[in-house]
Amino acid sequence: MVRKRIEKLLSIIFSLFLFTLLVTGIHEQFHFITARAFGIEGYVTFTSWSGGGYFHYPDGATPTFFQDSIIGLAGGIGTALILSGLWYFATRQAKYTTWELDDCLALQILMVHQLVYAPFDAWGRSFAAWGSNIGMLVAFVIAVLVYGKRIFSWLQED
Ligand SMILES: [Zn+2]
Repeated sequence: MVRKRIEKLLSIIFSLFLFTLLVTGIHEQFHFITARAFGIEGYVTFTSWSGGGYFHYPDGATPTFFQDSIIGLAGGIGTALILSGLWYFATRQAKYTTWELDDCLALQILMVHQLVYAPFDAWGRSFAAWGSNIGMLVAFVIAVLVYGKRIFSWLQED
């Protein structure tokens, strides 16, 4: 009983960890390919696995406000679109097994986080850390509302 519960909790944490790794890479790639679509050859550096990626413009690049806005928004919105596709498939799987709830939860949390973070990323870079914190808060509130009951009863069953 207790072992099963620990296994389920660990699988939720593992899903979050795994998808966070994926999200960091995808997010920066979206900045990168969007900039390239405007003919700007930037580059990406990573400072940590947990979202410490950064997109850099090449030296001498002078993107317009419009270009900079689209490139900035593309990270969060593009990633949220990819996550929503994965979330859709996980949700379909969850009809057949409750062991898919961990993926549904993790994907939805990261999806909402990316959406809330996107405008901060584009227009409020000095508030980016706050944007990320607010995004996590909103994502967890929505996650509790959508999955709270189901995860609670999943943890109760054998
Ligand atoms: Zn970004």
